[in-house]
Amino acid sequence: MNEKGLATKLTQIGGGENNKKLLQTASVPEVMPIYMTSVFAFDDVPSVDAIYEKKSDGYVYSRMSNPSTDNVAKILAAAEDGEDALLFSSGMAAIIATILANVKAGDHIIASSVLYGGVYDFFSNELKRFNVEVTFVNFINDDFEKYIRPNTKIIYTETISNPLMEVVDIPKIAEITHKHNLKLIVDNTFATPIIAKVLPLGADIVVYSVTKYMGGHSDIVGGAVISNEENINQIKRVQVLYGAIMSPFDSWLLARSLRTLELRVEKHSKNAIKVAKFLESHSKIEKVFYPGLESSPSHYTAKKLFPNGYFGGMLSANLIGGEKEASTLIEKCKNIKFVPSLAGVVTSISYAAKTSHRSYSKEEMDKAGITMGQLRFSIGLEDLDDIIKELSNALDCI
Ligand code: PLP
Repeated sequence: MNEKGLATKLTQIGGGENNKKLLQTASVPEVMPIYMTSVFAFDDVPSVDAIYEKKSDGYVYSRMSNPSTDNVAKILAAAEDGEDALLFSSGMAAIIATILANVKAGDHIIASSVLYGGVYDFFSNELKRFNVEVTFVNFINDDFEKYIRPNTKIIYTETISNPLMEVVDIPKIAEITHKHNLKLIVDNTFATPIIAKVLPLGADIVVYSVTKYMGGHSDIVGGAVISNEENINQIKRVQVLYGAIMSPFDSWLLARSLRTLELRVEKHSKNAIKVAKFLESHSKIEKVFYPGLESSPSHYTAKKLFPNGYFGGMLSANLIGGEKEASTLIEKCKNIKFVPSLAGVVTSISYAAKTSHRSYSKEEMDKAGITMGQLRFSIGLEDLDDIIKELSNALDCI
């Protein structure tokens, strides 16, 4: 008669304890399972002490760490030649935690003038509340060293800029950054480690929106930071306090995506160079921005920094005309959808002036080279002929 009540059975049976049994069997899962648990259970107090004191491996609470996030962090650290990595709930969370971990009130940052709109907004508006100043510079045309002040802490740039696809000379920037004992943080979202590993090029910290190529299937929002152990420990404190870790399920999806990253980035790049050449020769197009094109001012730097000869899946094009022409092209494309993101398996179009860079003023847009007739293309994994046919038909309607 010591049968437990239904509510007790429903709550007590089949919990994580079963995993102990699983780990003692002769086989292990071929794929890391999803540890969809917010917390971990202990047999006694010394066990929890041992984890906090780093005397034994183990987990306490999933806002701090979880086997699923740790697993994908190991893949990323290895892929980037870094010592350690952290997974975040979004690219913005990864970038903001990285910045906040490295500045205090009164500090100064030098950042590229062409950045993802959300990061630009954070730098130009949000950091003011923390009394951190940001100077925006063009790393390609300007000598950023002259803007370094005694209170400068961070140099921040993207490997391939959004939306103009400019490639900055990371080793050159790193040399000047380190001469002044500063940290170089690089957003490698558009490149991925398949095109360029930026830590060996001299970056101190690499940040990602893994929502893009790393995830690659338009089904997760996430971010990552990869660096040495010291930097990662410093950023992890902010991550844990602000509660910005990636969920176990998204981590599992990301691990799955990373298995095919090389294949995908190769195909994205092979399709993109052909589409870039097609658009460049089209009478309705004024200019194409793609570092793989010989006409690109970034071509020389890109060839130097991208050892595999891939230039990524992202390109932008200025149509002859303005908003009317851009809108017509978007409307006339049927399978190539207007998607304000990038890096999925299908080709998509985005419109920087109306989406990612909406927060830019007219003056800021002019300075960054963003126009109303400019569309950004994320070239997918379809058959090349089908992508070109659809773009060609849509261009004919303008
Ligand atoms: N960095 C780049 C280059 C991006 O394109 C984006 C988003 O589009 C972000 C960072 C922000 O990432 P998320 O949207 O995952 O927060």
